[in-house]
Amino acid sequence: MAKKSTRETTTCRFCGRGSDMVSFLVPSPFDPSTVICNECVEHIHDIIADYKKQVSDSNKEKTPVGKKIPKPLEIQKFLDQYVIGQQTAKKFLSVAVYNHYKRLSQPVDDDVDIEKSNIILVGPTGTGKTLLAKTIARLLDVPFTIVDATVLTQAGYVGEDIESLLTRLLQAADYDVKAAERGIVFIDEIDKIARKGDNPSITRDVSGEGVQQGLLKLLEGSIVNVPPQGGRKHPEQKMIPVDTKNILFICGGAFDGIDRKIAQRLNSHVVGFSNEIERKNKENVNFLKHVAPQDLKSFGLIPEIIGRLPILTSLEPLDRDALRNVLTEPKNAIIRQYKKLFKMDGVELEFTDDALDLIVDKAIEYKLGARGLRSIVETIMIDPMFELPSQTTDKFVVDADFALKKLREANFETTAAVASAEK
Ligand code: ADP
Repeated sequence: MAKKSTRETTTCRFCGRGSDMVSFLVPSPFDPSTVICNECVEHIHDIIADYKKQVSDSNKEKTPVGKKIPKPLEIQKFLDQYVIGQQTAKKFLSVAVYNHYKRLSQPVDDDVDIEKSNIILVGPTGTGKTLLAKTIARLLDVPFTIVDATVLTQAGYVGEDIESLLTRLLQAADYDVKAAERGIVFIDEIDKIARKGDNPSITRDVSGEGVQQGLLKLLEGSIVNVPPQGGRKHPEQKMIPVDTKNILFICGGAFDGIDRKIAQRLNSHVVGFSNEIERKNKENVNFLKHVAPQDLKSFGLIPEIIGRLPILTSLEPLDRDALRNVLTEPKNAIIRQYKKLFKMDGVELEFTDDALDLIVDKAIEYKLGARGLRSIVETIMIDPMFELPSQTTDKFVVDADFALKKLREANFETTAAVASAEK
């Protein structure tokens, strides 16, 4: 091989500057006689960083959720692992979410514009509305936030500005605006911002109609100036513009009493149906599954909001079997969680069937629903959780007698009876 000239070993092969003009020269690991100066290295480093960012941004554009979009059936199967029952809601959600992400990847030059498919879930409290939304977000690996509609007020009143719900999404996305713009917002208790009565209010309705009007622009998709720290907007705060066009909004609400409105509607459509409805009412027939947009309107949601929540579906109250399954079946079921906690102390924990039945009975007796299951189990388990780690036991069995004893000792029945009477 021909010998390199001294010039090659003392000047940068990129810019030609010598060691007297730069801080230092870096030799090639493959050929020490070829050198590059520190400034060229830094320059190249910047070029590579820019290139990598461009590639990652364009990948984000192509695959909105950062990975392959699962098909509706796959989404439903995933939900089945965490949420008991609610098959109708699961089906609607799976299709809506799938379409939402198809919409994100639709070609822009097309005439047909697939519209946004925000969702509204109607169902009694503690039946899995939030859980469904959370589980979907987990599957899609997108920023997700839950906001309570009751804290929102129309601008200028005490409470949080409506834009602050996007602050939470930004925080969930670590202030990555692009990621937040493809996220999911779950607005809980949407029924609490219903206007009172079916007629448009003449005076301002701070907590109801005004908030609904404010929500409109977020739901339909627009660029919203978001206060990065949330709370009230103030003039010195620098706002972050967020485009809500591709944010999926899932709203949930118990809409207490809407079943009567549904029953009335069904009644007025079918002559002589009234007795039938009364009978079904007595039999606890679930009218919610017939919920339609006009029922939301009679409940007090304004038509414009209803129009921007095109996917309407309901959740069923959880019956005894469903509650029993909630205890043990989901991937992170309450009983599984306790078993894991005990296993970490080397103790095998077992619940007998009659203990599980008793827990469900108490939840039903005191109308605590699925949410109450945890507090019942917690009450039963507090003593064993306190004592067992200091003992040498390697197996612990919870049977109905033990469970009942612990509930009585903790005065659970009285506390629960008070809570259920207050409802
Ligand atoms: P809500 O309908 O009021 O939003 P949540 O989804 O917050 O109710 O449910 C409260 C808790 O009850 C959940 O965290 C979960 O533990 C349990 N739960 C409720 N519904 C179900 C269900 N269908 N399947 C499994 N767990 C459920």
